[in-house]
Amino acid sequence: MTTINQALSEARDKLQTTSPSPAVDASILLRHVLGCSTGHLFAWPDKQLSQQQALQFSDVLQQRIEGKPIAYITGEREFWSLTFKVTSDVLIPRPETETLVEFVLEKFSANDVLNVADLGTGSGAIACAIAVEHPQWNIIATDASTAALNIAQLNASALNLENIQFSHGQWFEPLTGLDFDLIISNPPYVAMDDPHLSEGDVRSEPEAALASGEQGMDAITLLARQAGSYLKTDGWLVVEHGYDQQQAVYDCFNQGGFADIVQLTDLAGLPRVTAGRYGKSNA
Ligand code: GLN
Repeated sequence: MTTINQALSEARDKLQTTSPSPAVDASILLRHVLGCSTGHLFAWPDKQLSQQQALQFSDVLQQRIEGKPIAYITGEREFWSLTFKVTSDVLIPRPETETLVEFVLEKFSANDVLNVADLGTGSGAIACAIAVEHPQWNIIATDASTAALNIAQLNASALNLENIQFSHGQWFEPLTGLDFDLIISNPPYVAMDDPHLSEGDVRSEPEAALASGEQGMDAITLLARQAGSYLKTDGWLVVEHGYDQQQAVYDCFNQGGFADIVQLTDLAGLPRVTAGRYGKSNA
């Protein structure tokens, strides 16, 4: 029989060469199998795993050793202190994306009734975080992947959100005939041949959510070029981008007719978000 402590220590050893965070992974996976808190693991180090728990633990551990991201094994990831269901159909929400959410919540008044579009919503993390904070805003979340849209819808239902509408289609396709106060997106922005795409957890994520042309700029260029047609006067476009794309994204916004361009860094101090107001004449 195996105790909690033994299971953790064996798992840490086995993950040593394949995971960048063996101790954290071991603890998350064991909590997932036992359905318990971290406190429980500390409080009951000598408690024995049942045979079924031990088997299940060795199964999830094997998946991690083979390179499956923790979030896809447990089926969830926290973002903006909310729990999101994730599968390999969607990008795993990342902490740096909270920079975009934070900017939007600070910049625009909760009391105005804004029409917002979140393009390429994936798990729906951005749309849901904003919808939770500003229930009076009307949000449309779109994605070209129906599988991703299903996950986003499940997440919105689990959070009891009624102010998000989901619409299937590529970028602006589902927005025909509509105009918005705010268009936001965490588009794919990694360069196609970036070696980062074949390393670690990223390998398991949908390529369409990550890679975008030779420089990683295809989706952002399209967004900056076309957003004006779907924005009200003085509407804003806000996108996440790569740490090394600050100047390229600034130029795209400038050429797309955006003024008052703001660029923000994430918690790691890396340039990560660009926002601009549509309507060059008032600049
Ligand atoms: N920040 C992610 C990464 O580098 C990319 C996310 C994205 O393309 N939107 O893995």
